[in-house]
Amino acid sequence: MPIKGREIVQAARWDLRSFFVKGIAPKFKVELGQRAMREHATYSGRGDKAILCFSKDFCSYDVSSIDDYNFVLMIISHEFAHYFHKHNEHTDVDSFDTKSIEAWADFFGAKIMMSLATFGKNNIRICRELGFNFHSGDMLDSMSNALYRLAASLFDAEDTRYSNRITRVGYCAAGVTSFLDSYWKDFNFSRSLDVLARLYSHETLSEWLTAESHDFSLDRGVIERVNKIHNKIQGYQLDITGGLKPEFIKYLGTSYKTTPEIRDLYLRTRREQAKRQGFDLPDF
Ligand SMILES: [Zn+2]
Repeated sequence: MPIKGREIVQAARWDLRSFFVKGIAPKFKVELGQRAMREHATYSGRGDKAILCFSKDFCSYDVSSIDDYNFVLMIISHEFAHYFHKHNEHTDVDSFDTKSIEAWADFFGAKIMMSLATFGKNNIRICRELGFNFHSGDMLDSMSNALYRLAASLFDAEDTRYSNRITRVGYCAAGVTSFLDSYWKDFNFSRSLDVLARLYSHETLSEWLTAESHDFSLDRGVIERVNKIHNKIQGYQLDITGGLKPEFIKYLGTSYKTTPEIRDLYLRTRREQAKRQGFDLPDF
């Protein structure tokens, strides 16, 4: 019997709650298949009323392979990334606000996805039920198939609220390497390149990445804008969504109290580390 989309949403919700200290985990309220919607999912409401709604079609979607699982989990994780950052507490002032928030949800969503697949008990069980014996290379290949499916469908929209499809794939891939840097507690550029090569290995996806490379734009302005927005949402709190168990803060922490100078220093340090490992990174 295939697993339904709704079961993956529930597994993600339970596992995410288990990453928080008992008693102070966010509610992560979800509504499963109550309405027919145009989108797979939406995030609405503020404060206690915040809720993620998943469509009827999405909830009844048959997940019968690890590729299906990764495809569905990427969509779910993107939505949870909005929830983690309380994006509804912010009213977009222009389309660049929207684009920046969506870019961050792609990036942070990939970190959520990796956390769930690595540490989430329910997610690990589902992967086993789908007959997947965990192997990191096979997982990355499957994620490549899922990224292709996203690029061919959801990401392929002439919608100015979002970045173009290959840039969105790039944001997701950056989330995966960021998770792995935290996991291995180092910056190993040759590992990151290996991971990116696997994530982009799907034949058609890699053709698109080459053919549309002029569209690929990781805009530094997005990071500055998104930091401004997150700083405002965070206010005087220590994080936007507090209460994570200490071991999960490095993956899913939502504290944005940095300055442009600190971010500059971070980039310079990363570039120097890359240089020492034999990689000359372009200015960003
Ligand atoms: Zn979104």
